[in-house]
Amino acid sequence: MADFRLSDIDQQILDKVVEVGNSTTAHTRYYEDHEHEFPPARLEGERGFEEVFPLFGQRKPDDTPMMTFMMAVSIARGSTNGVVRGLGLAMPQGRASGLGNAALQSAGTAEQKAKWGNLFLAMSITEPGAGSDTKAISTTARLDGEEWVINGDKIFVTDGVRCDGAIVWATIDKSAGRAGIKSFLVLRDAPGFELVRKEKKLGIRASDTAAYSFRDCRIPRDHMLGDDETVPKGGGSAAYKGVMKTFNMTRPAVASGGVAKAKGALDFATAELAKEGVAVDWSKSFNQRSAVEQKLIEMEADTEAATLSVLHAAWLNDVRKPNNLESSICKAKGGEVCRTIPQAAMELLGGMSVSHDHLVEKYLRDGRISDIYEGTGQIQRLIIAREILGYSSEELT
Ligand SMILES: Cc1cc2nc3c(=O)[nH]c(=O)nc-3n(C[C@H](O)[C@H](O)[C@H](O)COP(=O)(O)OP(=O)(O)OC[C@H]3O[C@@H](n4cnc5c(N)ncnc54)[C@H](O)[C@@H]3O)c2cc1C
Repeated sequence: MADFRLSDIDQQILDKVVEVGNSTTAHTRYYEDHEHEFPPARLEGERGFEEVFPLFGQRKPDDTPMMTFMMAVSIARGSTNGVVRGLGLAMPQGRASGLGNAALQSAGTAEQKAKWGNLFLAMSITEPGAGSDTKAISTTARLDGEEWVINGDKIFVTDGVRCDGAIVWATIDKSAGRAGIKSFLVLRDAPGFELVRKEKKLGIRASDTAAYSFRDCRIPRDHMLGDDETVPKGGGSAAYKGVMKTFNMTRPAVASGGVAKAKGALDFATAELAKEGVAVDWSKSFNQRSAVEQKLIEMEADTEAATLSVLHAAWLNDVRKPNNLESSICKAKGGEVCRTIPQAAMELLGGMSVSHDHLVEKYLRDGRISDIYEGTGQIQRLIIAREILGYSSEELT
């Protein structure tokens, strides 16, 4: 039975992470205004996560399963994304924490995981002509002796500047559709690889987003994840399905970023309204409550529903049960509340919500991306419909 309550030690870890995470708050504006500067390894006044590590040693095998625990930490109340430095405005910079690392874990061979597991890897799928429709990618990989030769352009690579390398999707047989798509590790020093630019963005400005080009870029033959060079007939591909499974791990994580922004905005609005004497009075009946009270209750309920959907998807992943449907549900829900809750908070707060002195407008801008990357809200709803109705991706597009 699903149980998302944290064990005592996990609650202690969470509380400590929130404390430490919030010690970076003072710097959030600086690194947004100077988005092309990278924050140093340790910010001034930042407390280190080494304060947390000793507590990890006290965890027992029957404590909260790991991904459920990590998600609970990222959406903990009061931290607005406590695991991530600077109020969730910078993505984690630790080793092995990129989206490409999740791909390596779900599609790499045991040998590849052992060899590259400590690298910081980005994930590079999107192209100028292929976004939601990932099977439309046109980057190619051609075998030449003991090397793959990669040609194509990629855009919107999260962590693409500071990573050690990226897991790059390319087709080895365009005529085979998705069966021809494979993923490759391309290290930053590969000949023919170029970092074209770093994007300027609406939000998450302390997270770098890069564009890449590959011109006769050469990488060793054993850099294909999973080492399966076959192209199955009839469209199906275990390799493609393998890398798609990555999303079942990463979608809850991305959704949690959106939920964290929603909670931050809701908590701020609740606290500011309370200062003016406006708070939900639970003793009143529905008919007696003000419109503002009613709005706050709806916001709380939506945020809690999104929280539970993230924990559910993560827990299924932890107990090794299929979570394709649930990871899309939580991504759709997380992507919704990160837009609607900061927007509603701004409506309740009026002019102060656009001020640079508070983080509310920032939650709105930073949250927006959670409904775009790792599959837009529309695409999640499409996947949910396919799963519930039993249609394939060819039947329901
Ligand atoms: C800041 C940022 C970071 C990113 N990081 C990465 C990364 O690390 N790696 C990576 O590979 N990509 C990354 N992306 C790319 C991201 O995943 C894509 O932008 C996203 O998948 C949408 O693709 P698109 O932008 O081409 O939009 P499109 O696919 O062109 O979609 C445009 C609109 O049409 C809708 N739409 C499309 N198809 C359908 C359909 N079948 N039914 C209904 N509606 C549909 C979409 O929902 C959207 O509203 C990032 C993007 C951004 C902005």
